[in-house]
Amino acid sequence: MGVVPGTVSPTAGAADIPSVERLLGSAAAAALIAEHGRSRVLGVLRELLSGLRQQALQGKLAPQALADETLIAQARDQLHQADRPRLRAVFNLTGTVLHTNLGRALLPDAAVQAVVRALQAPANLEFDLATGRRGDRDDLISDLLCELTGAEAATVVNNNAAAVLLMLNALGNRREVIVSRGELVEIGGAFRIPDIMQRAGARLVEVGTTNRTHLADYEQAVGPRTAMLMKVHCSNYEVSGFTKSVDVAQVAQAARRHGLPTAVDLGSGTLLDLARWGLPQEATVRETIEAGADIVTFSGDKLLGGPQAGLLVGRADLIKKIKKNPLKRALRVGKLTLAALEPVLALYRSPELLAERLTTLRLLTRPMAAMQGQAQILQPMLQQALGASYAVSAEPMFSQIGSGALPVDQLPSYGLAVRHAGSGRPGRALQQLESRLRALPQPVIGRIAHDTLWLDLRCLEARDEAAFAAQLQRLNG
Ligand SMILES: *Cc1c(COP(=O)(O)O)cnc(C)c1O
Repeated sequence: MGVVPGTVSPTAGAADIPSVERLLGSAAAAALIAEHGRSRVLGVLRELLSGLRQQALQGKLAPQALADETLIAQARDQLHQADRPRLRAVFNLTGTVLHTNLGRALLPDAAVQAVVRALQAPANLEFDLATGRRGDRDDLISDLLCELTGAEAATVVNNNAAAVLLMLNALGNRREVIVSRGELVEIGGAFRIPDIMQRAGARLVEVGTTNRTHLADYEQAVGPRTAMLMKVHCSNYEVSGFTKSVDVAQVAQAARRHGLPTAVDLGSGTLLDLARWGLPQEATVRETIEAGADIVTFSGDKLLGGPQAGLLVGRADLIKKIKKNPLKRALRVGKLTLAALEPVLALYRSPELLAERLTTLRLLTRPMAAMQGQAQILQPMLQQALGASYAVSAEPMFSQIGSGALPVDQLPSYGLAVRHAGSGRPGRALQQLESRLRALPQPVIGRIAHDTLWLDLRCLEARDEAAFAAQLQRLNG
């Protein structure tokens, strides 16, 4: 260990750096090797030591940096950092219940348990237990879907975009599909009806105008190459003012007169009338079938409250054709999806219990008093953690359902509003706070609007409240 002339603090030289073999054999390394295996620990230590050699060359290596415990602790930190899962649980305080970027619907316990079982034990995924022969994976949920929607037949694929693609290819390839100009939607993340239509091999025939489409527009567009009439739910926008659209029943009647099927992409697709729970009304899948739709497509993880999936229900002959299409095999769901979907659908058999058992509906119908009570408990905790440069208050706010469901309706909610109380620009201070919240062990995601960071408590259920409160103290300083 030498002292570089002219400097006050002693520095270590390259010769003082321990060999990687000796470090690996040290008592301090044993636990790390047991946890991560020898080769991985070796790799990390090699990198650490080469960093130290650089420091030694620059005359900047402190002798304390060479203690076995110090080096092993650094290696442990690096390994833990590298092993931290990329997919992490977060607190969704955005106020958007079905947040696509945060994974949409949360699954009820019954579905979670079914997924765990399916992961750990073989299951009759495509095996008919009655005959001992090969089965069809769709059979696991198709009866239930028919019962809940009144459809003759049902099938399921990876998501609703896949359902629409498959339906269009199976029933509209090399033919024409008539859609109103007011319904050529783009759903966030590159799902556009005209693009999907093209990829499916169908030719889009646009009718009407952006704001007004009449029945005659559909009728006049029908020709020898028409495959179907299609309606698409305006999931994420509303056309208002001087508007006219043709409802499913009228479109279906017109289609029938020409011997054509009607397809409806419902997007979110609810199985029960949400008005029953005081939520905005939305046509159910059953109503759409009853109105005359021959095929209805909808998502599993929007209002339905299940796993990511695309559900297709409708006429038996059309579903049969769809199932025979090779794309069905390419877009099929795995056993985890089916395991989760079945118990979620089964909950719909007992509508009176749904708001308690189906997580999505429970969140959407949370009583104001529960959220307000929570806000009052958490307000002083967050205020204390943030100190005087921010002002935290418990306030009413508005949540959204999200994922294009009922886009213009907002749900009265309650939560914490954080505003900048110090000097400097409020925008900067709020962005800094937002990133501190994101850096917590379980990141907290809120939303900034009008110089305020809004933490909507709708999606912080009682069972998560303690975990949320416990990490607030880490915000100190
Ligand atoms: C959300 C949505 C889709 C896409 O569904 P995913 O399940 O996200 O693939 C398609 N059409 C409409 C009308 C939608 O709202």
